[in-house]
Amino acid sequence: KQRVTVIGGGLAGTECAYQLSRRGVPVVLREMKPQKRSPAHKSDTLAELVCSNSLRSDNPESAIGLLHAELRALGSLVLSAADANRVPAGDALAVERERFSAAITESLLRQPGVELVAGEVEQLPEDGPVVIATGPLTSDALTRELERHVGTRLYFYDSIAPILSADSIDMNVAFRQSRYGKGGGDDYLNLPMTKDEYYRFIAEVKAGQKVVPHAFEEPKYFEGCLPIEVMAERGDDTLAYGPMKPVGLRDPRTGQEPYAVVQLRMEDVGGTSWNMVGFQTRLTWGEQKRIFSSFIPGLQQAEFLRMGQIHRNTFIDSPRLLAKDLSLKTEPRLYFAGQISGVEGYVESAACGYLVALALHARLTGTEFVPPPATTAMGALLRHVTGEAHPPDYPHQPSNISFGIFSPLTGRMKKAEKRAAYSARAKQDLAAWLPHAGVPAAGAPEHVD
Ligand code: FAD
Repeated sequence: KQRVTVIGGGLAGTECAYQLSRRGVPVVLREMKPQKRSPAHKSDTLAELVCSNSLRSDNPESAIGLLHAELRALGSLVLSAADANRVPAGDALAVERERFSAAITESLLRQPGVELVAGEVEQLPEDGPVVIATGPLTSDALTRELERHVGTRLYFYDSIAPILSADSIDMNVAFRQSRYGKGGGDDYLNLPMTKDEYYRFIAEVKAGQKVVPHAFEEPKYFEGCLPIEVMAERGDDTLAYGPMKPVGLRDPRTGQEPYAVVQLRMEDVGGTSWNMVGFQTRLTWGEQKRIFSSFIPGLQQAEFLRMGQIHRNTFIDSPRLLAKDLSLKTEPRLYFAGQISGVEGYVESAACGYLVALALHARLTGTEFVPPPATTAMGALLRHVTGEAHPPDYPHQPSNISFGIFSPLTGRMKKAEKRAAYSARAKQDLAAWLPHAGVPAAGAPEHVD
């Protein structure tokens, strides 16, 4: 069989390479780390989680939880590494990031038919099938090369949240509790604020110095990941109704619901580091230290292991550029997977890598690519990337999985019943489609030519 080049060993590229090789297709996986790193990548391992350590809700009645369940049924590498390295986080699937990435790296090193080649790819290989899975922070040289193949690049901005060292947090102020006692009941650390403290904090965030983007780069943020200062600018109470909402929490020291809270989520099983939930920001690093330490109770001595950062997001206009099997219409040997194709999120990127593996395997074996039904989470993602979930003139933007991109439910039902109905329908339709995915039996990988 023809060897496939997968460029980028992130969430999409690793899943894609693994699934191809498991189906007998030899792969060379080219990853620029450790020689070169994007501004957000820090480790030497593959499938690095660059920001949160959470793969979000694992509840199968949420769209993302459903995607988890489908990927498990499909024998996904990313999901199995996540399950094996889970840390407590209520109903979310959060992982110990180093172990998660190490598990994926080791699986690929062990996998027959996968050759790992380190170093930046600046030009696309001249022939053979190629999967481009270089993510939102595709290197500049390759971006320029891709522009020659797909036309202009689209972009917007995301920001990432700071991480704190556990022993620098004042535990006389912080209390452990999940909202409404969800999951373990005490998976989060909460830093409570009074009304005065909250408004003083908001005033500082609004006035604080921000990293200024270049004049020609008007920031376009992804709505689900807005920086705190952008939310604060929308209204003084926006954060108190967003990531700082106190509902479902009771400070054991006062017996009351605080006016607002900063929630911290565990980064590692040992609980040595904690992520400031929803605290993406483009405040300068100096201002983050000053404002967070001085105006968030419990953080006076805080040690910041990572500061919040701004980053650029790169993706192509896939509904217009890609065919239904995620290959480039004008150059069908090129496939796009992951965030660069217009999905958003770790799990969605892995799922997209899986879909490309199925489509490419079908092409190479001369069989028909049968896409997952649009009633399943996998099918809904595909519909989003190829534009079928949207009107023809819809401006393409990377999207997380949501029930909004599934094919709509028929019949009338109460809002509360819809989630269960989406979930039940997806489960049934995935089971019917599963034979088309040709999931290799667990255990020994298939022979690779
Ligand atoms: P990546 O996982 O980024 O993988 C791409 C890989 O390609 C990288 O390893 C990179 O080193 C490599 N590469 C790039 N250029 C080249 C080249 N020229 N040659 C060889 N290799 C190359 N999603 C979430 O679900 N939760 C979050 O908290 C979250 N936070 C984010 C924070 C930041 C800063 C960014 C940028 C994105 C964030 N995302 C988050 C969104 C996104 O879905 C993830 O980045 C996800 O990792 C994307 O998967 P991917 O496989 O497409 O790209």
